Amino acid sequence: MELNEEILGHKREDYLSWDAFFMGIAKLAAGRSKDPSTQVGACIVSESNRILSIGYNGTPNGFNDNEFPWDRNGNCENETKYPYVCHAELNAILNYPGARSDLKGARVYVDLFPCNECAKVIIQSGISEIIYLSDKYNGTPGNEAAKLMLTKCGVKYKQLNEEEQVVLRLPLIPDEAVSRQ
Ligand SMILES: [Zn+2]
Repeated sequence: MELNEEILGHKREDYLSWDAFFMGIAKLAAGRSKDPSTQVGACIVSESNRILSIGYNGTPNGFNDNEFPWDRNGNCENETKYPYVCHAELNAILNYPGARSDLKGARVYVDLFPCNECAKVIIQSGISEIIYLSDKYNGTPGNEAAKLMLTKCGVKYKQLNEEEQVVLRLPLIPDEAVSRQ
């Protein structure tokens, strides 16, 4: 028996692409960051589109959020966040509870292009592709070092396609409550 088109019906056409979906997860994770100036999220995904791990920028485990120097400027570098903060990509990789070999060939979605330190961690983890949104530090020494390492080491990187750069609304209220508004 052949199913004709009338029986089959039609699927939604405006569903999220995998890339937009996983970037959305990364963005949602960024919402957990307590950093007042920069919130970054990362989502690691297997070759078969399964989410392996998620991370966002934050303090090292055990370093109380309330005692953390969140400032970007201080009398010396150690009075700023920079020496202490753990970036989203590092946390996502270290948060993965499975075997490190599972990360081989995975991709990481991150809303800000990785810094040179995270680029090293990504390379050593076996992740093979980075999908990013913003590259606001493009051209800075750290950014160029990151790109040089990634290129030399065969880790691909691409910006999320323009047609997938969309604004997602995510009301965390029941559908029936949305329709009443
Ligand atoms: Zn980083």
